[in-house]
Amino acid sequence: MKVVVVNSGSSSIKYEVFEAARCTSVAAGLLERIGTADSRLRHRWIDPSGSPAEIVETYPVADHRQAFERILAATDRERGLPDVAELLAFGHRVVHGGERFRAPTMVDASVLQALRALDSLAPLHNPANVMGIEILRDLYPGVPQVAVFDTAFHHTMPPHAFHYALPQEMYRDHHVRRYGFHGTSHQYVVREAAEFLGITLTRFNAISLHLGNGASAAAIEGGKSIDTSMGFTPLEGLVMGTRCGDLDPALPFYLLRSTGQAAEEIERQLNQDSGLRGICGAGDMREVERRAAQGDAPAQLALEMFCYRIKKYIGAYLAVLGRADAILFTAGIGEHSALVRGRVCAGLTAFGIRLDERKNAGVGRVISEIQHADGAVKILVVPTDEEREIARQTLQAVCTARTPRSQP
Ligand code: ADP
Repeated sequence: MKVVVVNSGSSSIKYEVFEAARCTSVAAGLLERIGTADSRLRHRWIDPSGSPAEIVETYPVADHRQAFERILAATDRERGLPDVAELLAFGHRVVHGGERFRAPTMVDASVLQALRALDSLAPLHNPANVMGIEILRDLYPGVPQVAVFDTAFHHTMPPHAFHYALPQEMYRDHHVRRYGFHGTSHQYVVREAAEFLGITLTRFNAISLHLGNGASAAAIEGGKSIDTSMGFTPLEGLVMGTRCGDLDPALPFYLLRSTGQAAEEIERQLNQDSGLRGICGAGDMREVERRAAQGDAPAQLALEMFCYRIKKYIGAYLAVLGRADAILFTAGIGEHSALVRGRVCAGLTAFGIRLDERKNAGVGRVISEIQHADGAVKILVVPTDEEREIARQTLQAVCTARTPRSQP
């Protein structure tokens, strides 16, 4: 049986097919530029002889329904997409679960209605996520659809961590609180790391650093998230590729008055023109590193600010946790930038955090320990796999739904 993981975004659909028994990936694809004349589908699979195969197709795709139809037309059992009889479930990435959705959830009509009500909390993401569920429900009426939420892992944050110091009616009437994001990734790397280190998950304390285009830190106590750097939206916290992270909350109001720009334009700038891109003109860390190495002062500043902000969160979360077994680096920058890992950990020896430079430089594609022999805190690079985590949680939700409840 197979589980298909779907990430339906505003202009793209990403999917991956997993063999349920061992959660191994058998096919994956991406259809990009939905709504244009040159949408592109790239589908990869393992052929019956065990060799990797790929097709790339370009055509106009008007909307998400057409996009799903194109994917289904281009793929079949031979190309790794299961027949309906072989389909155990679809697992959908949904960015925002609000306060209600704290676990992977089987979607029915009432859940769909509740999901639509969350659109205003994540207007850039949730509507497209939910559209994916609705279309696949139509196309595969008998197949379970499971929603897996980016926010769910952070629901264990205590009230003193998730509330803002604002009038409480803003929370009661407008759901204003910290939710946190990247939960699927943090959850995956935390479990992988605990298993790798042979530490029981419920005793595992760590600081998890998801450093991709978006970036967030999470404080993990006993395997659970007790604080995280992203808040009501994914704009809060660390310096990111194009997002500013933490700011003085008075700043947007000052900018409104002094620039005369519309609120939407300032919001766009904070999300898309800020972070690394705002500081040095490049939002991609590889480019920032390249320019910094050539002596470009804005790129050097961007790199320094990026690492400094992470270091401040490590300090805060060490204080919150009292003790950390490990610091975990993951996602594009966390997994691949030895320079960033080195800068982030520099000067933290007093806290038991000390990198081994040779190990740091030699990290491959598997989970790796990179702390110095004298370092009390483990430092791990953990490749993340959000799709596999969604597949795992989808399976769990389907099994739970099928298990008859014991009679009292
Ligand atoms: P997303 O959040 O879009 O999933 P990724 O997790 O793929 O992003 O991370 C993208 C970031 O990782 C980019 O800033 C990219 O420059 C950075 N990155 C990828 N490979 C390297 C590398 N070898 N060295 C430094 N940064 C890298």
